[in-house]
Amino acid sequence: MRISPTDCEICRFLSDEVRAGAPGTQSQLPLEAHGLETLAGHDVFEWVKLKRCPLCGTYYRYEYDQNRDHWWPDSWETLRRISEARGIKYASRGL
Ligand SMILES: [Zn+2]
Repeated sequence: MRISPTDCEICRFLSDEVRAGAPGTQSQLPLEAHGLETLAGHDVFEWVKLKRCPLCGTYYRYEYDQNRDHWWPDSWETLRRISEARGIKYASRGL
């Protein structure tokens, strides 16, 4: 039987959308985000990745962006929970 994200050791620490690095947000994604696995075939895109929780199977869309304005030389990350249907679609067709 599958566990739900709210009971999951990884997902319960991740909200529907987690942003890090941008002004007004935390500087890094929660440690639990590193427990997600990146789906094969999608690591060619450094800035968008399809990730999945190895414990409960929840899909996430990970985005990395870099601000090219020199007055804010920073980068940020967004991790957004997506539906299983979308995750499967992304996994088969690409992001
Ligand atoms: Zn999970």
